[in-house]
Amino acid sequence: MSGRLKTIGEVLNEAALMLRDYCEKKKEDYKKIALMIVSQILDMDKTEVILNKGLPVGQGKYEKIVNAVSKYLHDNPLQYCTNKAFFMGLEFYVDENVLIPRFDTEVLVEVAIEIFKGKKNLYFLDIGTGSGCIAVALCKFLDCRVLAVDISERALDVARKNAKLNGVENKISFIRSNLFEDIPKNLEFDAILSNPPYISKNEIFELDQRVLKEPHIALFSKEDGLWFFKEIANKAKLYLKDDGYIIFEVGFSQAEEVKRILEQSGYKNIKSRKDLNNIERCIFAING
Ligand code: GLN
Repeated sequence: MSGRLKTIGEVLNEAALMLRDYCEKKKEDYKKIALMIVSQILDMDKTEVILNKGLPVGQGKYEKIVNAVSKYLHDNPLQYCTNKAFFMGLEFYVDENVLIPRFDTEVLVEVAIEIFKGKKNLYFLDIGTGSGCIAVALCKFLDCRVLAVDISERALDVARKNAKLNGVENKISFIRSNLFEDIPKNLEFDAILSNPPYISKNEIFELDQRVLKEPHIALFSKEDGLWFFKEIANKAKLYLKDDGYIIFEVGFSQAEEVKRILEQSGYKNIKSRKDLNNIERCIFAING
């Protein structure tokens, strides 16, 4: 390395310049994107970046910023460019092997907190844990242990990393399993939670380029998008306590059908909760 290190202000300008044409075409604010990338890679909040424009940026961090910007220019979601996502106020490592945690999914965790607040020694199953965002958040906010399963070994590696990052690695066990296939039969849970793939293949053309960079096995469901709900609702009964809960995240316009699936599978007290966009996002019920 030769010459002096660049300052935060210079790096910010350089990133913004690289992003300008691309973002203008996409009607995005290039300065804002540059600030998000720089602040996330430097582990600072945005105000800190602006207040510290004169500080030097280490060579390693500078290279990470340039790499992140070029990934963004190749239509990657911002979270994959910086390897960071936020969920329930917690930080998560994310990459192309996992679905990016969504704010909508926080509703599911909030429902669990509401149901189980104050209870001790709970045991939950998180099916299709992906980044581990649901499992980790449950451990942070409730007195519980979680069994987190996923069909993808690479996703489980990411989830393990996130459990460590958030200091809950002792509360979560990870098993590679296609739904219930490899879950020991003798286990009994207070709740089974899942945000399964629920987009039907017909909807592929409606999705943003960046969403399509997320793992397709985490996004798409067979048939009409309801396949996983039927399968999980049916098998979950064997693993739930009598008063245990099933808690699903559902797609836009799937609420009524998922309620019907739960009713047909024999669940009681079926309820729903809306997300910030007023969409029925979480459906939950008691085993009964
Ligand atoms: N459980 C993870 C999440 O909610 C991953 C879900 C998935 O891959 N479908 O973000």
